[in-house]
Amino acid sequence: MSMTEEQIRQLETDAKKYIWYPFTQMQDYVEEKPVIIEKGEGNYLIDTEGNRYIDGVSSLWTNVHGHRKERIDSAIKNQVDKLSHSTLLGLSNVPAIQCAKKLVEIAPEGLTKVFYSDSGSTAVEIALKMAFQYQQQSTNGDPDKKMFISYENSYHGDTIGSVSVGGIDLFHEVYQSLLFDSHKAASPHCYRCPMGKNRQSCRFECVDQVENLMKAHAHEVCALIIEPLVQGATGIVVHPDGYLKKIRELCTRYNILMIADEVAVGFGKTGKMFACQQEGVVPDIMALAKGISGGYMPLAATLTSEEVFNGFLGKYEDFKTFFHGHTYTGNPLACAAAVANLEIFEEENVIENLQAKIAHLTEKLKMFEALPNIGEIRQKGIMVGIEIVMDREGKESFPPEKKIGHRIVLEAGKQGLIIRPLGGVIVLMPPLSITMEEIDRICDITYQSVKTVLETI
Ligand SMILES: *Cc1c(COP(=O)(O)O)cnc(C)c1O
Repeated sequence: MSMTEEQIRQLETDAKKYIWYPFTQMQDYVEEKPVIIEKGEGNYLIDTEGNRYIDGVSSLWTNVHGHRKERIDSAIKNQVDKLSHSTLLGLSNVPAIQCAKKLVEIAPEGLTKVFYSDSGSTAVEIALKMAFQYQQQSTNGDPDKKMFISYENSYHGDTIGSVSVGGIDLFHEVYQSLLFDSHKAASPHCYRCPMGKNRQSCRFECVDQVENLMKAHAHEVCALIIEPLVQGATGIVVHPDGYLKKIRELCTRYNILMIADEVAVGFGKTGKMFACQQEGVVPDIMALAKGISGGYMPLAATLTSEEVFNGFLGKYEDFKTFFHGHTYTGNPLACAAAVANLEIFEEENVIENLQAKIAHLTEKLKMFEALPNIGEIRQKGIMVGIEIVMDREGKESFPPEKKIGHRIVLEAGKQGLIIRPLGGVIVLMPPLSITMEEIDRICDITYQSVKTVLETI
């Protein structure tokens, strides 16, 4: 039964009255009419007014096979009829086991253990603590190794540990005095190369910078943490081919654990199941979340090598235990959704079918070159960042008060597309189930929205 006009108005009032929205300036929010999503259907979201929108950022990079996917829906419903939650602290449950087995089967070979949690931030937090503790207590570790190498422009989540290894000043600066220090690697951001090179003159000087850090500090560094291939939250910054492999080699050479944060790039987004697999890289620890449950349930996993896992074995009284675990760790409903999500990948040849869509998207994105204020169009797989600049030569961004990204997104919403900007970068990241026609519509609406907004500046 659909809602009455009165019920909808009441929801709109209550939406503003009661909720504090994440990453949202609430002072502005009270002036806008809230979009209240009521239903999902395939690659579409439907609001309380009955408006249909293409889910252009896959509900913040989580949705994989579309909304109300029969197989995932029924996996959850069936699981509800058996068990919704039981603790994983020393007990097990059926979907948690099945899901862990599947994850190990599809992960880069050598990652053999699965530690569950419930968000990308916690998956990263766990990875950091594991790397640290491993060095402290493993016979192959080194207790002097207490620091991390992390990247400029990186994003690993919002908890204090994951913020400590983050590198986006806008989000992280204010917490500075709460954070632990880490050595900062230069972001391989070719459009704004920190080494002052361009694509012709580049000799991977950014790799040298990381090697120099390691030469100077390897004795005190337990792990390096990286978003493989694409730094997502900073604006879909796509790393040059071969970069990741070089970093893996350096980590091995300097005896530093490699943590791959595949929270954004995992589950097909780059065109392979995991980004590391694009370059034949096996990290020591891998953090997964977002797409893991198909975008259905809060679930995350931190995968480790046998070597890292073994560093935590010992007699009970040695206290080498990993003393960490969240209440909903290994939740059966979330794991059941994840199992169904992974089965669909196999049964529907999702990764194989994705290749033509990625190629089509690449072609279609060329239309944006016609707009004067497009600085760079970045794409890896189904992940797209379109950077809007004031002028192409200077690469200068519009000042924040122009709210350029925000205005483009509002315009797109009017035309039936939900997207979300990262500053001046327009992000497109549809579900893998997106069709060719829907890719066209996403690009056409985005193009029109960018054009309309730029004309009024
Ligand atoms: C989104 C994201 C996170 C944080 O995940 P949450 O589920 O929001 O805590 C961590 N790392 C990367 C690379 C991400 O994109």
